[in-house]
Amino acid sequence: MPELEPRIQKIYDQVVRRNISEPEFHQAAREVFESIGRVIAKKPEYAEASILERLCEPERQIIFRVPWVDDKGRVRINRGFRVEFNSALGPYKGGLRFHPTVTLGTVKFLGFEQIFKNALTGMPIGGGKGGSDFDPKGKSDGEVMRFCQSFMTELYRHLGEYTDVPAGDIGVGGREIGYLFGQYKRITNRYESGVLTGKGLGIGGSLVRTEATGYGLVYFAQEMLATRRESFADKKVLVSGSGNVALYAIKKAQELGADVVACSDSSGVVYDAGGLDFELLRHIKEDERGRVADYAARRGSASVYRAGDNLWTIAAETKIDIALPCATQNELNGHDAKLLIENGVIAVAEGANMPSTPEAAHAFDEAKVLFGPGKAANAGGVATSALEMQQNASRDSWSFDYTEDRLADIMRGIHVRCADTSEQYGEPGNYVLGANISGFTQVANAMLAMGLI
Ligand code: NDP
Repeated sequence: MPELEPRIQKIYDQVVRRNISEPEFHQAAREVFESIGRVIAKKPEYAEASILERLCEPERQIIFRVPWVDDKGRVRINRGFRVEFNSALGPYKGGLRFHPTVTLGTVKFLGFEQIFKNALTGMPIGGGKGGSDFDPKGKSDGEVMRFCQSFMTELYRHLGEYTDVPAGDIGVGGREIGYLFGQYKRITNRYESGVLTGKGLGIGGSLVRTEATGYGLVYFAQEMLATRRESFADKKVLVSGSGNVALYAIKKAQELGADVVACSDSSGVVYDAGGLDFELLRHIKEDERGRVADYAARRGSASVYRAGDNLWTIAAETKIDIALPCATQNELNGHDAKLLIENGVIAVAEGANMPSTPEAAHAFDEAKVLFGPGKAANAGGVATSALEMQQNASRDSWSFDYTEDRLADIMRGIHVRCADTSEQYGEPGNYVLGANISGFTQVANAMLAMGLI
């Protein structure tokens, strides 16, 4: 792994010391730090104002108890988090994750990434993230509702359309956002639509928000491919996960002529050599809350299900052109990256946040594989959330086509910003460098302009 410049290494050591037992946060910070040395060398005012040190310290961190009652009448306790990381560009904005592995360190890595991602969209939104170690899997609707109501009973006092605007993430979709919004409305006696995004269409949600992260990811990858006169047409694609982001990445890639042959969940992998049946998969995942094993069972002989398998090893069996990791952090390691590279992958775009380990990301860089980091490639979700906020503020609702055009424009803009910045810093096509420097510069300039914040 590349070394950090001595003064940046000192700041990194301090981040590790001050945030002990938060390895994912250290990883996210280090990844940004590897790019930032060159900016600081050009603009010493950032170092003089300790911008990097300030950026690593969240403006506010909230940890709270979430008591709720299960269907058997037993009292259950979970832990809730909201990290309000940086509001230099606008109200804190970022999703809520409900998953048993969630810790403060998880929320901090996601919140840190979100600062730069939101800056890259060019929209007036700051960075934050939240969640809980609550596991929605296997819970009844009533249990999920009672948990959400209890979660919001504490969180509401920290939110507001000009203060902090959460959305969904792993384990939090339209159902959970509906329950959270209902409780916020009851407690505050305000129909403040702009306080949450990812709402259902009947309660102030935006068309295209459901599809936005997956569609945006494919738009971004399409722009990367175009720089090498390539496209999705007739390419073989692997998509990990089968949740919100994965589903709509599959759909858009197929619309652009790709052959998406496999996806996964935390139990296993489904491989359809002839291409996935999107509508069947969507129905099982969204309408029935089922598993990819259910999809394979219903698809019959067209499909192979491999319990507990690693999706990326499919690259050893059949040539894969494009990989779209859309499940979770650190799901694609150095070994997987090597396998993909050896078997001819030309592009990797991250739908999930930090799905590639540092070893994998460096391997793609060295092999000159087109590599779109999550903070650029998956920014379509938060960008469309900002479009939802715009519609809520003007009490308007836009058509699907108009909203999708806006999303496509935003993704093109993010691509241009990353590409131009990487070129300016002497490494054309290095989207990691471009995304980190472009996002950092916007936030750092806003912080400088506001004095000591
Ligand atoms: P969902 O909950 O809808 O889906 C998550 C998918 O990933 C599921 O298929 C899940 O499988 C799988 N998964 C989760 N954890 C693991 C794990 N530890 N090992 C293997 N598979 C796992 O979440 P989203 O699609 O919304 O989010 C996916 C990723 O995209 C996350 O990294 C999120 O932060 C990122 N993201 C999401 C955005 C959005 O708008 N939703 C915006 C930007 C980024 P299983 O059901 O078995 O757990």
